[in-house]
Amino acid sequence: MIQPLAPAHPGVGQPCNGCGLCCLWKPCPVGVVITRKTLGPCRALDWSAEQAVYRCGLLTSPHTFVPWLPQAVVRRVARRWIAADTRCDANLERADSKPENPGSD
Ligand code: SF4
Ligand code: SF4
Repeated sequence: MIQPLAPAHPGVGQPCNGCGLCCLWKPCPVGVVITRKTLGPCRALDWSAEQAVYRCGLLTSPHTFVPWLPQAVVRRVARRWIAADTRCDANLERADSKPENPGSD
């Protein structure tokens, strides 16, 4: 289920905007290790109602997933592992997305 207020997928190569599609589709390699799940939405995915974006729970609440390590360490390592703040490389599309100019051709 995608939050109705989640931003639209920005397109491959654009800055990540927290649309969450990649993590809703399946866990990344780090997510697989942390959640022991390979299919479906990553259990570490966190919806920020305040900002209306999805965030990786390893960054927003690392103690929930790796309680035995200092939070700052988990955040630092996770940022590198999940390539946070980089450009989108997920060629995905929301099932409910509509063409920009329906019926214009
Ligand atoms: S990497 Fe792409 S698909 Fe994943 S949350 Fe960021 S913009 Fe969305
Ligand atoms: S980036 Fe975080 S929320 Fe997304 S799949 Fe990886 S571990 Fe899960």
